[in-house]
Amino acid sequence: MTTESEDRFSDLKEMIISFIAERDWDRYHRPKDISMALSIEAGELMELYLWDREPDREELEDELADVFFFLLDMSIKEDVDLSAALRKKIEKNRSKYPASLVKGKDDKYTRYLEE
Ligand SMILES: [Mg+2]
Repeated sequence: MTTESEDRFSDLKEMIISFIAERDWDRYHRPKDISMALSIEAGELMELYLWDREPDREELEDELADVFFFLLDMSIKEDVDLSAALRKKIEKNRSKYPASLVKGKDDKYTRYLEE
């Protein structure tokens, strides 16, 4: 079953596939390299906040887009349905962090297992 959000991702994925193919960059976009690029872009996002800076709105949007680009690129290469993966992971986190135990707390989940 296809959801509306998956349709939106499909359009974005097609745009990414075209962008990469038009430049003959597919040979460089291997999962290992994409994972590194994703981490680098996440670092660039962090850099915007370094030393308590207030990020410029366009720079923030650019870095979020870079992270999203490589996240979608990875999902294409590894054939992962991101919407389904996110739903599944949130369900896992609901079990891992029951609201009744963690509400208003930021401890690691292993701390709650000890209680
Ligand atoms: Mg960037």
